[in-house]
Amino acid sequence: MKIICIGRNYTAHIKELENERPTDPVVFIKPDSSVLPKEQDFYIPEFSDNIHYEVEVLVKIKKVGKHIDKKFAANYYDEIGLGIDFTARDLQSELKEKGLPWEKAKGFDGAAVLGKWVAKSNFKTVDNINFSLLKNNEVVQKGNTGLMLWKIDELIAYVSQFFTLKKGDVIFTGTPAGVGKVVVNDYLCGVLENEEMFTLNIK
Ligand code: ZN
Repeated sequence: MKIICIGRNYTAHIKELENERPTDPVVFIKPDSSVLPKEQDFYIPEFSDNIHYEVEVLVKIKKVGKHIDKKFAANYYDEIGLGIDFTARDLQSELKEKGLPWEKAKGFDGAAVLGKWVAKSNFKTVDNINFSLLKNNEVVQKGNTGLMLWKIDELIAYVSQFFTLKKGDVIFTGTPAGVGKVVVNDYLCGVLENEEMFTLNIK
């Protein structure tokens, strides 16, 4: 499977990182080796002093598709999830400055946290789902999928122009404002509507 990630999909987060508002979605990929195994703690890697959490709504692709029309995009997923796009912000800033790819900052082992999956049919619409991230029991990020610059079906249409989507692929749909650093002994908890989707210890 592959993990396709969208950057800069929420206005407030674009502002906090002082990025420009994109005219097309920002897209990058994490390798399958970046998935943090279930029930495992997240270990801060040695090459970074500034690992950031980014909570994001996830979409799991259920069948092969290419050049998917937006109006048929909903046929390609049944499950919605929540996860973390861990980012070595120090390394990413360095790479960005040099105009180099971000993979080392975004695709390292453990950088993709996938929580549990829930049926899309649980929601009236996927474009109005509330989600949040708690760090040490305090809310640090809060979002709603209605605030995305590109909604889920538009993202599927867009990325499938470049990449054939396959069964089991996961799309990270971008993070809202409030990203921040994790330190050893932090405890993260992701919530989608009122359901706990993952918990995680930082080591
Ligand atoms: Zn992200």
